[in-house]
Amino acid sequence: MTSILLLPEVKTFLSSTQSLRIGGKNVDTDNTLVVINPSTGTLLAQVARASAKEIELAVTAAWHAYEDLGWGGMLPHDRIRILWKFADLIEERAPIFGQLDALDNGKPYATARDVDAIWAARHFRYFAGWPDKIEGATIPVSTPNRLNYTQVEPLGVCGLITPWNYPLLMASWKLAPALAAGNAVVLKPSEETPLSALYLADLALEAGLPPGVLNVVPGFGHDAGASLAAHDRVAKIGFTGSTNTGREIVKASAGNLKKLSLELGGKAANIIFDDAKLERAIAGAFWANFGNNGQSCTAGSRLYVHSSIYNKVITGLVELANGLSVGPGMDDPGHDLGPVISEKQMNMILDHVAFSQQEGARVLTGGNRIARDGWFIPPTVIDHVEDKMRIAQKEVFGPVLSVLKFDDDDDVLKRANNSIYGLAAGLWSQDVSRVRQFSKSLQAGTIWVNCWGETDAASPFGGVKQSGYGREMGKDAIALYSQTKSVWVA
Ligand code: NAD
Repeated sequence: MTSILLLPEVKTFLSSTQSLRIGGKNVDTDNTLVVINPSTGTLLAQVARASAKEIELAVTAAWHAYEDLGWGGMLPHDRIRILWKFADLIEERAPIFGQLDALDNGKPYATARDVDAIWAARHFRYFAGWPDKIEGATIPVSTPNRLNYTQVEPLGVCGLITPWNYPLLMASWKLAPALAAGNAVVLKPSEETPLSALYLADLALEAGLPPGVLNVVPGFGHDAGASLAAHDRVAKIGFTGSTNTGREIVKASAGNLKKLSLELGGKAANIIFDDAKLERAIAGAFWANFGNNGQSCTAGSRLYVHSSIYNKVITGLVELANGLSVGPGMDDPGHDLGPVISEKQMNMILDHVAFSQQEGARVLTGGNRIARDGWFIPPTVIDHVEDKMRIAQKEVFGPVLSVLKFDDDDDVLKRANNSIYGLAAGLWSQDVSRVRQFSKSLQAGTIWVNCWGETDAASPFGGVKQSGYGREMGKDAIALYSQTKSVWVA
């Protein structure tokens, strides 16, 4: 198997320690982050590591850009032009982003380039259309001789904290609406995957974003992340990550009562009814869980299957799992799935599988480490799973699918909702009344019917229960990054 040749820009990017990007400048630090390639387990890059001191610098630079360089008050059409150019540059450099994320996260290069990077560009293009549509209102108040109107304003400086599973895309989901609404930002990407965010900061300058509007400060969560979350001049934190970290951020935000939007973990229930179009449902349910190697907050990791079709579904899932190729993200030709993100994550996933067996579950395929360098686990299908088992309750965040059996609609609805999480849920059925009733009663922020995983820059996305609060995408995302002022005129 050969590897895809590195682009000259990527070679150069990896050849020296990458600095922080603060105020339009490269800032070095005494400490570095060691970035590991999960496909090989070896050193990929070294990156400057931000701590409280650099967070302070970045927040100061962001306020300077917002207030003194005029980003917050820039005319909408100027902001539109810059964001549109930013989108074009991301699209043009999709192969560079693709290689950086494929090396850093392990996902197949073609996916990182054609899905993650292209969707990131689309996201920026959608939000580039917003700055001249963020309108207030004239309010028909009952006080005589008074004009009351509202204006919608940016928050100021926002901190954005992102995970490793879609490094470029998760950063873009937050950055595009935050910038469109007129905020300056400090972005702290995951310590596991900081590369594409740093490259994004360089493109921002090329697109014409004033220096300091986008600052990128990789560092550890307990250090750089915690400093940003607690900073008293940060007006808001947009966070995507685990539910436990979400709780830490809620506590850290208490000092200045900053606004929060939290996109947290999930344990999505996916239900195949006896009237589903079976072939489509089996493939759909398979990819609902194994897309991005199961490392998705929306992974449909609890698959409920009606008992009358159970054996057929199991056979189909196992066949699909056994037919996939798993390997390094930069192999040529590419694989269907890459490694999991780290050795620690791999061991945690394998521990979940082993524990489920102790609790009585049955591993139908996979469940072991693949004997090669890097952190690889084959697609793993488990059945004889019961709702109370750990594997059915905890977010595994890896290529493991739990299959559960049901007989009755009322029963499966209760069981599907029996989770602390509520990010997404899915159903496979041809019965319109059943679809309507389940879409209403399932406790989740997104319901997919006879499909899975669709998102769109225009469509709200977010969780209920312990999957978080706030809706990213669409007009809801603009609301997350702005505030309304009421003006009374005599
Ligand atoms: P994580 O919570 O460990 O880390 C996420 C980010 O938070 C990282 O940048 C990390 O450095 C930072 N962080 C860690 N501790 C912090 C602290 N005390 N203060 C401030 N920042 C801190 O999550 P992860 O392992 O990178 O990502 C996987 C998790 O993210 C999963 O639970 C997954 O479900 C969730 N996720 C959710 C969504 C969504 O949209 N709901 C999308 C992707 C991932």
